[in-house]
Amino acid sequence: MSGRTVSILGATGSVGQATIDLIERAPAGQFEVIALTANSSVDELVQIAKRVGAKFCAVADESAGAALADALAGTNIAHGAGQDAVLDAARMEADWLMAAIVGAAGLAPTLEAVRRGTYVAFANKEALVCAGTLFMGAAKASGATLLPVDSEHNAIFQGFDEGHRAGIRRIILTASGGPFRNASLEAMQAATPAEAVAHPTWNMGAKISVDSATMFNKGLEIIEACHLFDLPESEVDVLIHPESIVHGLVEYADGGLLAQLGEPDMRTPIGHALAWPERMETPVKRLDLAHLSDLTFQAVDTVRFPGPGIARAAYNAGGCAPAVLNAANEVAVAAFLNGKIGFLDIAQTVSDCLERGDQAGLSGTAPADFDAVYNADREGRRFAAEVIAQRQG
Ligand code: NAD
Ligand code: MG
Repeated sequence: MSGRTVSILGATGSVGQATIDLIERAPAGQFEVIALTANSSVDELVQIAKRVGAKFCAVADESAGAALADALAGTNIAHGAGQDAVLDAARMEADWLMAAIVGAAGLAPTLEAVRRGTYVAFANKEALVCAGTLFMGAAKASGATLLPVDSEHNAIFQGFDEGHRAGIRRIILTASGGPFRNASLEAMQAATPAEAVAHPTWNMGAKISVDSATMFNKGLEIIEACHLFDLPESEVDVLIHPESIVHGLVEYADGGLLAQLGEPDMRTPIGHALAWPERMETPVKRLDLAHLSDLTFQAVDTVRFPGPGIARAAYNAGGCAPAVLNAANEVAVAAFLNGKIGFLDIAQTVSDCLERGDQAGLSGTAPADFDAVYNADREGRRFAAEVIAQRQG
C-alpha cells in the first residue's frame, strides 16, 4: 500500500487510540498523520501527537486551549481550541479521516471531511442517526467514500454485493446483549453505572458501553444501517450473539448468508477501513475455530430491552425524530452515569422526549437543512433535561 495521509477526530477515545495503535505498528512511511482532535484531554492528545508527528492538534473545549498551547510549546505542531479549531482539523487536506468523536458533537466536523470528498472511516454513528439523509446526500454530492467502522456495519459492508442489490433480502446486525443480557428487570432497575459499563466482550468508551447495556446502541445501529446501505428498517434485523464473533450477516435471495467473523477487537474493522481497498496486518488475535466451542444466537427480549423498538419507531416517525431520540439518549445516559436517574429511566426518558418532539412537530417532515437537525438536537436535549428534572422532582 502506498503512503496515506490521515487525520483522526476523537483521537484520545477508544476508537481513536485503536486507530493510532495500528498507525504506529505500520511500516514507516505508510501513514502520515495530519490532524488530531480531542474534547479536553490535553495530555493524552499531546502525547499521541508527539509520538506520531502530527501537524495540527485541536481541542473542542475552548478552556483547554491555553494548556494545549503550553504543552506544545517548542514543538512545530500547530494547534487550536474551540469548535472552529475542530472544524479546521477536519478541513485539512488528508486522504483519509477517522470520524470517532462520540455523540452528535461529531456531526459538524465529520461533515467537513465528507464535503472534502475524501475517504471517511465512520465510527460516529450518532451523526448518521441525527442527519442520515442529509449526511448521505452530502457524501454523494462530494464523492466521499464512507467506510463503516462500527463492527456490524463493517462486516455487512464486506458481505454486501452492492452491484446486485436485487438479490439481497435483509441484513442482520449481531449484538452481544451487554452486561444485562440475562439480568432480571429488578436487577436492571437497580443497576449501577459501574455494572452498566462493564461490557462482557468489547472494551469501549463509557457512552457506547451504557448504550450496549440498554441496547439503544443496537437501535442507533439499525438507523445507521438503513442510511449506510439504503435499506428499509424492515430489512435490518438484530440477533443476540453473546460470543461477539460473527459481527454481521447479509442474507441473499438464494437462502445464503454471508457473514464476517473475527475476535471482538475494533482493530480489525478499523484496519479494514484504514487500508481500504487493500488489506493490512493487525495484531488482532486470530480466531481458532477448531477450539471455538459455541456460536449461539437468540432473539432480543423486547420487554427488558425496548431500545431497538423505540429506535425503529423514531426512524419510521421520520423527520427529526431520530435526532430527538439521539439527543435524549445522550442526556439520559449522562444523567445515569452521574447517578441522577436509574438504568431503566433511560428508555423511559427517551420515549417521553420522542412524544414531546412529535407534539412539537419535529417528526414527519424531513429536515430542510442541517440547521433543522441542529435545532432538533438542541430541542431533544431540552426535553430530556425537563423530563429528568420532573422525574427527580
Ligand atoms: P470515547 O468516549 O472513548 O472517545 C470519544 C472521543 O471524542 C474522545 O477523543 C473525546 O475527547 C472526543 N469528544 C468527546 N466529546 C467531544 C465533543 N463534544 N467535541 C469534540 N470531541 C469530543 O468514545 P469511543 O468509544 O471511542 O466511541 C467513539 C464513536 O465510535 C462513538 O460514536 C461510538 O458509538 C462509536 N463506536 C465505538 C466503538 C468502540 O469500540 N469504542 C465501536 C463502534 C462504534
Ligand atoms: Mg457496533
